Amino acid sequence: DPVLARAEALITTVPDFPAPGVEFRDISPLLADGPALAAVTEALVAPFAGTFDVVAGLEARGFLLAGYVAARTGVGMLPIRKAGKLPRPAASVSYDLEYGSATIEAPDVLRPGDRVLVLDDVLATGGTLAATRTLLGHLGAEVVGAAVVLELEALGGRDVCGDVHSVFRG
Ligand code: 5GP
Repeated sequence: DPVLARAEALITTVPDFPAPGVEFRDISPLLADGPALAAVTEALVAPFAGTFDVVAGLEARGFLLAGYVAARTGVGMLPIRKAGKLPRPAASVSYDLEYGSATIEAPDVLRPGDRVLVLDDVLATGGTLAATRTLLGHLGAEVVGAAVVLELEALGGRDVCGDVHSVFRG
């Protein structure tokens, strides 16, 4: 697909961000391109068509993908937030990062039987997605799958977080 190939080429590698020696993949140019964004979000959820009622987006770039998919498909949206942002978090999970730790939280808004698809921009070590699965488990949610725009395969994230659909691999 030429549009997907162009979309992949729009992902930019930024050296030494957020720390020296780290190569950050920036999807901002892809998000700014209408046809690329449409093609990528379609490929992101295509394997899961008709299987989900809610998309869960990881703060912050996952929100953009989830909002787009929700608007296009008519499903609901569940924001997975970084700690301290929600007035009444229903569940909270802490996990280790390369340096330090992070905590994610979710509100108590799912209805019984809601089927949830998790979306994020980049899969790196898999820690964030694994924590999200644990978090959604605490809520009693049925997780039908997870999808990311870009999987950094060399980091072995899927060994940590379980099965995940990726549009691009690098
Ligand atoms: P992990 O927990 O898999 O190591 O990291 C994934 C999380 O960190 C995702 O929420 C993702 O947005 C962010 N992240 C890690 N590395 C990158 C990167 O190179 N580019 C972008 N855009 N996000 C990253």
